[in-house]
Amino acid sequence: MNNCIFCKIINKEIKSEIVYEDDIVVVFKDINPQAPVHLLIVPKKHIQSGNEIDVADKEIIGHIFIVAKEIAKKFNVDKDGYRIVVNTGKNAGQAVFHIHFHFLAGRMFSWPPG
Ligand code: AMP
Ligand code: ZN
Repeated sequence: MNNCIFCKIINKEIKSEIVYEDDIVVVFKDINPQAPVHLLIVPKKHIQSGNEIDVADKEIIGHIFIVAKEIAKKFNVDKDGYRIVVNTGKNAGQAVFHIHFHFLAGRMFSWPPG
């Protein structure tokens, strides 16, 4: 995907603060953090949004939650808690059309979300 900013981050064409990487995902700091810990867990496969997740992507999606659990431990927020958010489409405010899982922690979050 030529013009995708997250593909460029994955390919190291754009700089980012990567905190974890393996064959399936990269995790980097959000450039505009909404919490003391705000990371983006991003699959290396370019999937546009939740609407484009294929049955064949099951392992990728499952892996993301295993990585999230490890990230929570690494950032010492597993006990206090964290929130994982996937904005999908216009009403949710999705701005980057390469699926990403916001990992937010380090403060109290309200419910329902705004
Ligand atoms: P969303 O609204 O769910 O599509 O979220 C997109 C997120 O990507 C926002 O929280 C942005 O701050 C973040 N973002 C955009 N560009 C970059 C970048 N170059 N590096 C890190 N985070 C970014
Ligand atoms: Zn992409």
